[in-house]
Formats: sequence, C-alpha cells, structure tokens
Amino acid sequence: MSAAAPRVRGWCPGALRPMLSGDGMLLRVRPMLGEVSAEAMRGLCDLAGRHGNGLIDLTSRANLQLRGVPEGDVTTLTDGLRALGLLDPDPEIESRRNIVIEAGWRPGDLSHRIATELMGLLGDLPKLPGKFGFAIDTGAEPAVNMVASDVAFELAADGGLILRADGAPLGRRLRIGEALQGLREMLDWFIATGGQDTGRMARHLRHAKLPPDWLAAAPRSYASLPKPGPSGADLTLGAAFGALEARAMITLLDSTGARALRPMPGRLFRLMGVADGAVEAARDAGFITTPDDPALAVHACPGAPYCAQAEAGTRALARQLCDQLGPRLTPGQSLHVSGCAKGCAWPRAADLTLVGRHGAYDLLRNAAPWDTPEARDLTDTDILKLTEF
Ligand code: SF4
Repeated sequence: MSAAAPRVRGWCPGALRPMLSGDGMLLRVRPMLGEVSAEAMRGLCDLAGRHGNGLIDLTSRANLQLRGVPEGDVTTLTDGLRALGLLDPDPEIESRRNIVIEAGWRPGDLSHRIATELMGLLGDLPKLPGKFGFAIDTGAEPAVNMVASDVAFELAADGGLILRADGAPLGRRLRIGEALQGLREMLDWFIATGGQDTGRMARHLRHAKLPPDWLAAAPRSYASLPKPGPSGADLTLGAAFGALEARAMITLLDSTGARALRPMPGRLFRLMGVADGAVEAARDAGFITTPDDPALAVHACPGAPYCAQAEAGTRALARQLCDQLGPRLTPGQSLHVSGCAKGCAWPRAADLTLVGRHGAYDLLRNAAPWDTPEARDLTDTDILKLTEF
C-alpha cells in the first residue's frame, strides 16, 4: 500500500545532463568498463573538492556522483571530467552508457568482451527509455544481480551464457558469439511490443509476454554477493552511506598503491592491485573493510538540506542509530533513514525504515519507504529512544 507519491523522473542524471538538487547541481559519472584509473580518481577527488561538496557518492548502479556543484561551475567541471577521460566524446553515447559490469572482470574474459562489444554498439541500438540499463555478470562469481538494469548477461547454473530480461525468472540461452545479436533481438522485441511507453523492462513484463524460448534457464544463485575484504591482489571496501570523502580517498590511493578503482553495486568499490597492508591502510582512512561492519546495514540518502525533495535530515540521525542499534543488528537486518518516501538509498523493505515528512519522521517496520507507516510525526528524540527494531 502506498502512503505517498514521491516525484519520479523518467531519466537519470549524467555528467552531460546534470540535475538540479537541493544543494546545487548533481552530476553522475559512468566509468568506462566500470573502472577509474587511480590517476583519474585523484583528479575526480580534486574536482569534487573544488566544484562539489567534497564527497563522491557511490550509486546503487555502480556509478560515481558529484553533488553540491554551483550552476556556474558545471562547464568547468565537465571539461575536467572530459580531460580525465571519464566522458564519451559523443554526448548521445554518453547518455546511453548505462552499463554495470561485474567488478572482477579481467582483460579478454567474457564480461570484458561483451562490455567492449556493447559499448561499440550503443550508437546502433534502437532508441531506449532514459533509464534503460544493461548488466554484465558473467564472471567467476555472480556479483551484479541486475541492480536496476533492464537486461542482463548472466551465466546459468551449468555455466552457459544467458540473456535475461528484468522481471523474468529465466533467461534465453545464447552461444557466446551471438551475445550481442541476442541483445539486439530482445531490444527490438521490447520496442515492438510497446516498451518505450512502459519505460522499464520489469514494468513492461507485467503485460507483455516474452517468447517462450527466452525463458529457458535460471541464472546462478545470488545468495552470496561480494562483500568487503581481500580477493587476491584486489580489495573490496565500503564507505558509510556510500559517500567517499575525497581527501580520504586520495590518502587511500596513496597508501594502498592501487592502480584503479571499480565501483560496485551495493555501494561498495574494489581497489585493483593493492600493496601489502592495504586492509589496515583502508581501515585507518575510515573505510569499511569487513562484511560484519554495522554501517553496511544502515542506509541513508543525503536528505535535507542536500536534496530538493527531502523533508528531513537523514545521515546525522542514521549515524546515531548505527551507533545505538548497529551492534545488535543480526546478519541480513537493515535500517534505512530516507529524506522522503522515494527511498533512493534503499528502494525496498528494511527491518526499520524512517521516512522524513514535514520535518519529522514516519516509522515503518519490514516495509518500504512508500508503504503505510505504523507511527507518524516522530522526532529525533523519539527515535533515539528506540532500543530495538
Ligand atoms: S529519497 Fe532522499 S535523495 Fe531520494 S528524493 Fe527523497 S530525499 Fe532526495
């Protein structure tokens, strides 16, 4: 049941299509092949400090976001992003490059080959709705789980390649050499059956039926997704609320010797090729290094005064709740403080959700931010008296 109707836009902001927010302009950077070199990351940190609020947000779709940018700084900032190699030369391609690739890819492997081929094909694909996205999850372990994408290349339990439409439990089997042809056919089907009007694949599938042979095999289980910790020479880390503090990030890059950073779904990121002692260096720089850190289970969007739609502050309260309730969180539990009912930071049910409304908070248990609250108009003080979920 829905209690409120937050404003939903039919497009995502990009680096060349900034969005006005409560604290200025917001620009989203979509790293090519999901990777930013250490040098470009240092440059991005510098731009965030000079033109933004000093933070780089990890988005749920594994992009990087700068916010708090004065309108007059946008051109200088986009010039800076272009100089760092973070933008496609063609603005149309840049707007279509909604691709999430699993962070474990290696040059020449299946994920890398599909992503490279897809990037080269973007200009030839049919015109798709603004939020339409692609996931490439064909690495050694399942890692992306669609994350707000509309179509995903995945592996079936037997290791075969499949292409799955979001909202469908099963995917179409494809031979490796025909991956992009299969994608093109699915996109043509989406357009021909009216997908442009419904906007997203999952919504479209509520009414449209996929061809039966496109429902042939289930993807691998997503029961276990990547978590903070070392994997070979790489290191997966988190940051509270997915906010990377620019100066801390530069310290991290310097102290770990990482050659690149790959943003990941779930507001994590992977440092590629780190030196010995990187875990300790990351911990010292304030990043999340272990899967049991309670901060990973606490979600909060920027809230007021940073987002124009926010009806209350979020992160200060979330930090206090994390200190108070975090140690008692059991695995799988989650806590969400949202500036409004849109629920950007955790658009699904949490064990405890607080939604800003008219400067106070509505409280929901085991519900999404847009559901009907069980208590309304709570103050920070009321909420901090909570001793359990
Ligand atoms: S959930 Fe948060 S970030 Fe999203 S629109 Fe509402 S206040 Fe803004």
